[in-house]
Amino acid sequence: MAIASLLLLPAAEAAFKIRSARVGGQMYLYLRDIAGFYGMQFQASGRRANLSSRYSKLRFEVDKRECILNGVKVNLSYAVGSAAGEIAISQTDFNLLLEPIMRTRTLPAGAVGRIVIDPGHGGSDEGAANHGVKEKELTLSIARRLYLILNRQGYQVYLTRSSDRRVSLDQRVSAAQAVRPDLFISLHINAVGNARVNGLETFFLTPEGTPSTYSSNTKREADLGNAFDTENARLAYEIQKQLTAVTGATDRGIKHANFVVLRDASCPSVLVEMGFLTNPGEEEQLITAAYQNKLALGLARGIVAFDRAKRKAGKGAGE
Ligand SMILES: [Zn+2]
Repeated sequence: MAIASLLLLPAAEAAFKIRSARVGGQMYLYLRDIAGFYGMQFQASGRRANLSSRYSKLRFEVDKRECILNGVKVNLSYAVGSAAGEIAISQTDFNLLLEPIMRTRTLPAGAVGRIVIDPGHGGSDEGAANHGVKEKELTLSIARRLYLILNRQGYQVYLTRSSDRRVSLDQRVSAAQAVRPDLFISLHINAVGNARVNGLETFFLTPEGTPSTYSSNTKREADLGNAFDTENARLAYEIQKQLTAVTGATDRGIKHANFVVLRDASCPSVLVEMGFLTNPGEEEQLITAAYQNKLALGLARGIVAFDRAKRKAGKGAGE
């Protein structure tokens, strides 16, 4: 890590000018220059661009909103563009996604002490259901496992519900705010008409002035949770990375959405969709203790990685 730090001393940064161009009303930055800024190799062929170093590998494709950052699927706010024959990404994505993931010290310093786990649904609100398997039961079961792991590691952990009862979204938000957490994580299970669809996805709050992953409308005003845009991105990335590594499940990527529990969060927060009840293979796994333990372990590892990044940011470390 020492080498990466040396390459990114402030003096070295100043030597790199990242050229920009307007593409479709957005300011875009040339990936070739971003590679130089990060001390990475740059390689472009046709519509694809690869940035690589000993530590990182980034893959982009023109017109795609999805890119791959160190093996994790990441949805950008804006599609990769091209200007004057060069491949470029939006300045917004550079500032709010790439920087917090690539350079730990751009994150606000701090540490994670208190964590709120929010098991989705409950009581009369069963969430998704299939063959008698209910989302509300799976989210609570996985939340309890995650609680135990984090508790053992010395974190102060709270659940928005610890039994099968209905809790409104507003109650979840105010319960979370009451304990002044450093991190909020909401757990859900997916369902969809197409039985083939499977995998994990992690949502974080759509930044102000950008579209959500499944929308082309721009978000007009910032929410409370937007105070944590860069931390939200890093947290989502760490969780998605660890979850897919531990479970081997399909990586559906990190995505932007304006979910209520994320909008009104008073700390970095994510909502994780941990698989599809409507996919026979995934349903079979989700109901087992072994797979629920894997999910809890992946979530915990992601949280710990985020905590480490926050502590490192405080020490002014490189990377
Ligand atoms: Zn749900």
